[in-house]
Amino acid sequence: MKACKACHYLTAESMCPNCKSTNLSTSYTGIVVILPGRDKREDPRLSSYVASRLNIDKPGKYALKVR
Ligand SMILES: [Zn+2]
Repeated sequence: MKACKACHYLTAESMCPNCKSTNLSTSYTGIVVILPGRDKREDPRLSSYVASRLNIDKPGKYALKVR
């Protein structure tokens, strides 16, 4: 898995499916999983402290720190 340097999204692809960036890094620490809410379109930042701190607006797997 590689982490997107722009949005921290974790992916096995060579392009970030979240923000379409190709600036990916294999050097990252910590993984955080943001689960979808009851309503999948709901902004996770409203119900998750971690999501609001990391400014994550879509559920998925993210790296905490990307180098
Ligand atoms: Zn991204």
